[in-house]
Amino acid sequence: MSLVIVGTFNLDTIETPLERRERIVGGSGTYCCLAASFFTRPRIVGVVGEDFPEVTLRLFKEKGIDTEGLLVKPGKTFFWEGRYAEDPNKRTTIATEVNVLKGFRPRIPEYYRDADILFLANIDPDLQEDICTKMKNPRLVAMDTMNYWIQTRKESLLNVLEKVDVFFANDEEVRMLTGELNLITAGKRLLEKGPTLVIIKKGEHGAIFITEDFAFIVPAYPSECVVDPTGAGDSFGGGFLGYLDRVQSYKAKDIRQAAVYGSVLASFTIEQFGIDRLRSLSSDEIDRRFEEFQALVTF
Ligand code: AMP
Repeated sequence: MSLVIVGTFNLDTIETPLERRERIVGGSGTYCCLAASFFTRPRIVGVVGEDFPEVTLRLFKEKGIDTEGLLVKPGKTFFWEGRYAEDPNKRTTIATEVNVLKGFRPRIPEYYRDADILFLANIDPDLQEDICTKMKNPRLVAMDTMNYWIQTRKESLLNVLEKVDVFFANDEEVRMLTGELNLITAGKRLLEKGPTLVIIKKGEHGAIFITEDFAFIVPAYPSECVVDPTGAGDSFGGGFLGYLDRVQSYKAKDIRQAAVYGSVLASFTIEQFGIDRLRSLSSDEIDRRFEEFQALVTF
């Protein structure tokens, strides 16, 4: 089993209509590796500044996450501030400070290079590309992104897209990237650019999986407790790929099961601020919610 995740390890200030939290731990890599750690022992690649909490680095280790590829650099950690409207699907970025990520060139431990699965979580597309070229021969390469990179680095992003098997994006990003309003049409346009599977995340409406041969829909858990939607997409990706790494098979049936695990992990993340819920979550809770999902969609 081997899943390498490259992503951001950040400090976030989050404002919801009810509450504001300053400089809490977030980042695509953080959510993703914690979600994946329930299924496998992810190896992470990224950079943090000296202000990134020690206690979180310890948490990663306690969860079996390999932090050999996570560099601690002098300076400040990547900072992001976001604000949610009454509708939790509507988020505005207030500030992005790249800080230690600027000019960062990842150092990949030699033993990471023969991983089966590479997840290029949301980060600068040039870094995604750099890591892609450094891996030996992964069986599956997946990538995620964010409106920030679509707006500022579209060409680089399209370059990476050519090299991946699975592309995750939310509905807004997919529309922005293709100029298509219809999500199925947009998904098919993206399939022409390289990936064999496009996964469109639709917040509280679940996710659509589009391939040449089949389409598949996974619902979001019908939760009444949405405290902080941040990291839902990254937890989805982490749960999805962590499960695939555990089963070591990428058949349609495995993809469907992995999709439900992705949705389960995302549903827990949003119940509390930042990574708090992932910190306390147990495998039993995941299994119970997986069964609830089965009951939800069986008819
Ligand atoms: P999600 O809610 O799954 O889209 O992910 C939210 C996380 O993305 C937050 O914890 C942020 O720290 C992180 N983030 C915000 N902006 C960026 C960016 N431009 N690149 C990478 N990660 C980012």
